[in-house]
Amino acid sequence: MRDRIADGKRRLGVMGGTFDPIHHGHLVAASEVAARFDLDEVVFVPTGQPWQKGHRSVSPPEDRYLMTVIATASNPQFSVSRIDIDRGGKTYTIDTLRELRAEYENADLFFITGADALAQILGWRDAGELFSLAHFIGVTRPGHVLADPGLPQGGVSLIEVPALAISSTDCRARVARGDPVWYLVPDGVVRYINKRALYRDPPQPTR
Ligand code: ATP
Ligand code: MG
Repeated sequence: MRDRIADGKRRLGVMGGTFDPIHHGHLVAASEVAARFDLDEVVFVPTGQPWQKGHRSVSPPEDRYLMTVIATASNPQFSVSRIDIDRGGKTYTIDTLRELRAEYENADLFFITGADALAQILGWRDAGELFSLAHFIGVTRPGHVLADPGLPQGGVSLIEVPALAISSTDCRARVARGDPVWYLVPDGVVRYINKRALYRDPPQPTR
């Protein structure tokens, strides 16, 4: 157990994502990393609005932000940041981390990412600086192999979390087909999706 008084630094998890919608896979990953790395807080950071993600349009930032707030509100260790949404445009992780670094001067940052996103890490913009700004934690995700020998030593931890085979893509496809998403996403998020009639029209193509 680290000595909080000696180092005096807050340990801040950062969970970036499109969160369209946020689901229990995201929440379990954040909760598990918070416990294992003794984090004081996890900040969820919904991405800015790309004109498209792959072949589909992304729901409005305000809807993704509110679903993230609804899903995290009851956990005192979780919070939501608007920085990527307010910056606008496509989100680059380097910008997110630079801004959080400035906002939380006296904190150690832990960037939490699924195996799929981690696999692309070396191709990210300014990869070298990324690892100086935060420690990276790659978590298991069903269907994705969690191992990349090309990652820098010491800058990345790979951990296994209880695997939940849930993706936002699948949740959107379910809603479009009229299938339930209860228990895949928090109850309040199911209600918000219904209230705003998200993912219905036109039906969303799957990945
Ligand atoms: P989409 O299907 O639209 O790509 P997604 O389910 O992958 O959505 P994102 O918002 O793209 O969700 O993911 C944000 C982060 O959460 C990424 O780092 C991703 O790897 C991670 N993640 C998503 N789902 C899971 C899961 N079931 N278990 C662990 N990590 C996950
Ligand atoms: Mg994804």
